[in-house]
Amino acid sequence: MQIYADNAATTKMSKAAVDTMTEYMNNWFGNPSSLYTIGQRAKEKLEEARALTAEMINADRREIIFTSGGSESDNQALMSAAEFGKRNGKTHIISTAFEHHAVLHTLRKLEKNGFEITLLPVYKNGIVLPEDVEAAIREDTCLVSVMTANNEIGTIQPISEIGQICRNHGVIFHTDAVQAVGHLPIDVKAQNIDMLSASAHKFHGPKGVGFLYVRKGIPLSNLIEGGAQERGKRAGTENLAGIMSMTVALRESVENMDRNNAHMSEVRDYLIKGLSQIPHSALNGDAEKRLAGNVNFSFEGIEGESILILLDREGISASSGSACTSGALDPSHVLLAIGRIHDVAHGSLRLTIGEDITFEQADYIIEKVKNTVAHLRGFSPVWRDLAEGKRKYILP
Ligand SMILES: *Cc1c(COP(=O)(O)O)cnc(C)c1O
Repeated sequence: MQIYADNAATTKMSKAAVDTMTEYMNNWFGNPSSLYTIGQRAKEKLEEARALTAEMINADRREIIFTSGGSESDNQALMSAAEFGKRNGKTHIISTAFEHHAVLHTLRKLEKNGFEITLLPVYKNGIVLPEDVEAAIREDTCLVSVMTANNEIGTIQPISEIGQICRNHGVIFHTDAVQAVGHLPIDVKAQNIDMLSASAHKFHGPKGVGFLYVRKGIPLSNLIEGGAQERGKRAGTENLAGIMSMTVALRESVENMDRNNAHMSEVRDYLIKGLSQIPHSALNGDAEKRLAGNVNFSFEGIEGESILILLDREGISASSGSACTSGALDPSHVLLAIGRIHDVAHGSLRLTIGEDITFEQADYIIEKVKNTVAHLRGFSPVWRDLAEGKRKYILP
């Protein structure tokens, strides 16, 4: 059996998204900046895509900037708000400890350039408290950035409340909604969002394309200088095929969202129940306030990397709680942020299922994970120490 269970890393393009991409690459090669007909027709399509994208999140089409994806959108949102803040003498930024690296590394760069960064805790359940945001806001705070849903543990954040607090204090609010767009209802007006990042390949669109929503009146500066594309805010000849394909994928995802989420959350809960039977294991992140497709477990006495390799041999593609940064295997900053100690964080498994997951596949996953964990524990020195009472179990 082959099961792709890493949809938080990327998704397979939908057929309609592939067909649209092919159609536009074949027949719509014109440059939207050109004045002759094939250029102007491309421009019309681009603007149609912008209007449709805006509609999906209840924005105005003039509030959408097409980018190369989530990382670029995050970088531009943060750099831009910081630049604007600095001009007004505001150099304090609030974010959280478990953001994506596209946010955290941009903040690290800003810190080197004189900004002060407050990273809020996310507690054991992986959810930011709105009152923590409020308490952290200062006179010189220029930006709050909190992700809508976490990419590793799937927890969903109280975005509307945080947005309201920021609005009350006149602070720009950005959210990395890369895991949420196409998966959760988004209404930038109702949720008080000033800036939002999205990426097509997380909702069955192509890689290398995304968008940044910027509320009217919020200043935006460029990351990429050059031509006057995207209202002068993002230079470079538009990736029309990618943008059209993204738009089709987004509309499909939004239209089928309720049905897909109902099914996926049923299978997710079935998986959680099944994997919970493994002794000394624990679910990471809140059991209810989580994405319909996210299952993340820690197993004591094993290493995440080895479980991945063994599961891959059984046809299951998943992801672990470690990240290979600069050649070393570091435990995930997200799992550390929710209080998992290094050893436990290392023994973690993320399964992010797709819309087409079946209960039969879920049974197969449960069986294979159970066997693999038992197998790895069989020759783990840590597990032996735990079993012999030389170490204390951390997980129940
Ligand atoms: C995937 C992801 C990104 C990066 O998006 P790209 O389009 O791959 O650059 C940023 N934030 C989150 C939460 C993500 O899941």
